[in-house]
Amino acid sequence: MIEIDGVSKWFGAFQVLSECSTRVERGDVVVVCGPSGSGKSTLIKTVNGLEPFQQGSVRVDGIAVGDPKTDLPRLRAKIGMVFQNFELFPHLSVRENLTLAQVKVLGRSMDEATASGLKYLDRVGLLKHQDKYPSQLSGGQQQRVAIARALAMDPIAMLFDEPTSALDPEMINEVLDVMVGLAQEGMTMMVVTHEMGFARKVADRIVFMDHGRIVEDTPKEEFFSAPRSERARDFLARII
Ligand code: ADP
Ligand code: MG
Repeated sequence: MIEIDGVSKWFGAFQVLSECSTRVERGDVVVVCGPSGSGKSTLIKTVNGLEPFQQGSVRVDGIAVGDPKTDLPRLRAKIGMVFQNFELFPHLSVRENLTLAQVKVLGRSMDEATASGLKYLDRVGLLKHQDKYPSQLSGGQQQRVAIARALAMDPIAMLFDEPTSALDPEMINEVLDVMVGLAQEGMTMMVVTHEMGFARKVADRIVFMDHGRIVEDTPKEEFFSAPRSERARDFLARII
């Protein structure tokens, strides 16, 4: 579903990604971890064309992201992305947040968009908050709305960039529970996170990055029992 092949990227003279290659098969969950500044956000954003790159290729469902002929807005509409800071529209109600892109980008009728939006809002347990504004919700609730909003677009894959790292500790699990449910239903997911409990539960593979390189790309069991690199061993020792 997601194929990243030899991707390199520079910010001026600084190389932020060095020949990164990995694959996410349909229905798989790949967790990306590694020290701060190692290039995780930059890598995940290449998948939906938010970060252009100078070398290599990225394909999603066979479509080349970097190809100038690719209809990037159309491709982006098929890939859900959830960020650290929720990014809901503050001036729109929850229901309006859920329907806006469905109507504007997918051309759905308001009725259709509302039905889809509320279905997913119910799924994340927030149906009764549909008329509230983001500022009236807790961080965990806002993030669950952001996930529902992405799901309402019927994405073929979901990208998450540290979705729980801005949350108070008591709200982390309500968001992770939604993500575990999605994983168990077979959603294709690429997740930047340091929540190793989540990784142990649902990841198929772990990608470990350091200094812009993918240092390990291994099945979960192997990563936790016998990480190959010194850097990954250090990293695990510090966060577990
Ligand atoms: P991570 O998500 O693993 O913390 P990032 O992908 O955000 O890492 O960043 C990787 C490196 O690239 C960092 O050293 C960061 O400072 C640098 N970087 C990120 N965005 C930019 C930018 N727009 N211009 C220059 N350097 C950047
Ligand atoms: Mg990051």
